[in-house]
Amino acid sequence: MKAKLRGHHLICLNFFRGEGYSEDFIRNIYSVVGKENVEIVAGPDEVCARCPYLKDNKCSNGDYTDEKIQFQDKEALKLLGFKPGMMVDWKMISARLPGIMDEWKAKFCMNCGYLEVCFN
Ligand code: SF4
Repeated sequence: MKAKLRGHHLICLNFFRGEGYSEDFIRNIYSVVGKENVEIVAGPDEVCARCPYLKDNKCSNGDYTDEKIQFQDKEALKLLGFKPGMMVDWKMISARLPGIMDEWKAKFCMNCGYLEVCFN
């Protein structure tokens, strides 16, 4: 089974602690992170598909514009050394995290609503 995920979710889902926007959204994430392989996609993914903020195939979360989210995806893939279309697995992703988390945290986590959840 493979998941289809966008760039920033490859990083953020490593810190998933069972919290999210709705019960359905959370249940879906448990199923996504349980899949061994991941196909990297550009734009809305399997997580976004069950998100209350996905409107017209764009992220409409009040804290993030779609442009900001797409920028995060690009930066995540740049740091991880991956590209859309690649097949990866969670071991490959987590092996790269120690080398990139300082930069990722400084750029994106400090103003994120999940900061406390991820790093406490
Ligand atoms: S907030 Fe935006 S990027 Fe995050 S899951 Fe929802 S639609 Fe996708």
